[in-house]
Amino acid sequence: MGHETASVLIKRALRKRCPVCGNGGLFISHFKMSRSCPACHATFWKDPGESLGAMYLDYAVAAGAFLICWAVLAWTTQLSDLSQLVILSVVAIVSVLVCFPYTRSFWTVLVYISGGIERPQLRVIKGGKDDSHGRAA
Ligand SMILES: [Zn+2]
Repeated sequence: MGHETASVLIKRALRKRCPVCGNGGLFISHFKMSRSCPACHATFWKDPGESLGAMYLDYAVAAGAFLICWAVLAWTTQLSDLSQLVILSVVAIVSVLVCFPYTRSFWTVLVYISGGIERPQLRVIKGGKDDSHGRAA
């Protein structure tokens, strides 16, 4: 895990960028996520079960959109229950589809925070002579 602040990680999530380096994109297309970062080669979701975690966020988005829209409809319109249900269902489905990359992006940040994404191994090239002490010749 790195030393990024919460605001940096949130910005990376909103920009759908790699939480590790902030450069590589998380997505190939709206619904297709990259397996690893094209910039730093960190693997985003090692465990295929991570998509289940992102679905929790999908559920939260759908429930939130449903409740907000339901409150607006109930307070401002005189629609029948059936038409409200149809509108609310469409709103919930569309909100999940629109937010799909963002729920995955935020879930990737949560996976990163919990230590599920390792920083790729960097090759450290040490210059100069070996100056380690205590090594008798
Ligand atoms: Zn990266």
